[in-house]
Amino acid sequence: MMTFPQELPTRKQVMARHRGNGGRIALVFPVHYPRALLRAFGFLPMEVWGPPGFSTAEADAYIQVYACSVVRCGFSALVSGRLGSPDLVLVPHACDSLQGLGSMLLDFPKVECPVRPFYLPRAGGDAARDYLAAEFQAISRELEELTGLHPSGHDLLASQKREEEADRLLARLHRERGRMGLPSLDLYRVLRSREYLPAESFTNMARQLLHRHRPGTSAGIPLLLSGIVPEPMEILSLLADAGADLRGDDYACCGRRLYPPGSSADPFRRMAESLLAAPPDSLRGSSVQDRVRHLLQLSHGSGAKAVIFHGIKSCEPELFYLPQIRAALESAGLASMSLQVDLAVSLPGQVRTRIEAFLEALS
Ligand code: SF4
Repeated sequence: MMTFPQELPTRKQVMARHRGNGGRIALVFPVHYPRALLRAFGFLPMEVWGPPGFSTAEADAYIQVYACSVVRCGFSALVSGRLGSPDLVLVPHACDSLQGLGSMLLDFPKVECPVRPFYLPRAGGDAARDYLAAEFQAISRELEELTGLHPSGHDLLASQKREEEADRLLARLHRERGRMGLPSLDLYRVLRSREYLPAESFTNMARQLLHRHRPGTSAGIPLLLSGIVPEPMEILSLLADAGADLRGDDYACCGRRLYPPGSSADPFRRMAESLLAAPPDSLRGSSVQDRVRHLLQLSHGSGAKAVIFHGIKSCEPELFYLPQIRAALESAGLASMSLQVDLAVSLPGQVRTRIEAFLEALS
């Protein structure tokens, strides 16, 4: 039995082990992408969400200063070699900043491996599913050329089903968070290990963890977090110290990636079905109404009485939604506050003061 989260391997260790076994590494920028497809070709996806606190000096020479810190830190870390020597870089078109990054990396001399940007549909429905399935098929053909591997339809489907099992357990960890007795910071280290652990390792760990039954007694103020990524992660300890009880999240990197399984027997179509059925997300063009409905459901299901929008400075897709979402939540009796952070710098002291004042007003 593992001791959580101390025994979680680091990204570096996981990468080294995968390479040691003859595998390839794909660095993947946010947010949605076909994990199962990469795995079927021997690539282990390593997601790039920052890293926080990384100097943006490299980015300053190439990227506009008003681009967000996820893109600036990620670019700097990649071109400085901090992220190792990947075999592939995948850049989903989650927003204009990422689209710009993807285009720039295509010709960037310091990036020696192939770079594959791809467009995500901004709608649901059959047309979006068919488009995305065709896009995954096109990526698959390129990966065949790159690797010389030719996984069968059966292999691709098996890979997708492995990811679906990991996603099923990830959703359970989110839902049953209260009974495992993990502080928020530890819980989110576990949840976020889905960003770099192979699905089968994550599944084993999640099964062990779900056997724990150590419900804590929380007298804190129940709330939800929403945003892109829970970074810097010290915000989770800060919230706990200030008396918050985190009941759920709507982060793009966490709660908005609780993908339900697909149902098609065609692997590409099934990957697309699963991805498009994730909870509403500004980065997939979901409507304000859908996002409000989802947040209200999360709040009613968890007992949360407030939402803290913890966003990234200059993140236009999120900021665009914020005024309307907050107004709708307020009309429904759900309080909220908004914090915008820059991953390149440490959390300013005033964030603690603002959180304390907000929680004080709720108590
Ligand atoms: S933080 Fe916002 S602007 Fe930056 S990459 Fe993510 S979605 Fe795009």
